[in-house]
Amino acid sequence: MTRLDDLRFGADGLIPVVTQDARTGAVLMQAYADRAAVQRTLDTREATYYSRSRGEQWVKGATSGHTQRVVSVALDCDGDSVLYRVEQTGPACHTGEYSCFHRPLLGEQTADTGLDGTLERVYVTITERLATLPENSYVARLHAGGLDRVLKKISEEAGEVLLAAKNGDRAELATEAADLFFHTLFALAEVGVSPADVAAVLQGREGKSGLKGPKEVG
Ligand code: AMP
Ligand code: ZN
Ligand code: ZN
Ligand code: ZN
Repeated sequence: MTRLDDLRFGADGLIPVVTQDARTGAVLMQAYADRAAVQRTLDTREATYYSRSRGEQWVKGATSGHTQRVVSVALDCDGDSVLYRVEQTGPACHTGEYSCFHRPLLGEQTADTGLDGTLERVYVTITERLATLPENSYVARLHAGGLDRVLKKISEEAGEVLLAAKNGDRAELATEAADLFFHTLFALAEVGVSPADVAAVLQGREGKSGLKGPKEVG
């Protein structure tokens, strides 16, 4: 069992904290905590840090309202850094960006053409847009229109998938399936269901034959 005593604070009494969005897996920020800040995080599940510039404890969101509800806390192998996994409200960065790590220095090394990685990235982008609501964003417009409108849109897109498949129009089917996936991801993000939650359901059915389809169940 890992305990607070297993943390190895630096000579300055601080330990680096990496903070991750528990829903998307995205790395949100890196900051520092002293022992009291980690203790407060464990006690309250409010992500708490220590500001080196101000020399004081800092509860994330205290002034901005962009709070972090802590889902779990872990140490790394040698106990000299801490991971907070959080449910982030709004942007994590004080600049208004979703993540502090929005300054690319080196691009992605591998081009990912698979569907799962693509869906994951789109989900992260939707989460980012919902956190920051940029002016020209389609996600922000969908959000403003309300969830009911989006749910109606999902059933419309499903109808368009059906028509395209029926007509054997491959290009159209790919487009409409993309629309359906996108709006479904939007609904997941709005309601707070992660791709991992959906993956868990699919994986639970993997390799089993003869399962009942959703319509046949109950
Ligand atoms: P907040 O905790 O969001 O209410 O912000 C309070 C203060 O904490 C800000 O004025 C910043 O000085 C600092 N701050 C907030 N978020 C970050 C961050 N992601 N990285 C570094 N400093 C931050
Ligand atoms: Zn380490
Ligand atoms: Zn930042
Ligand atoms: Zn469509």
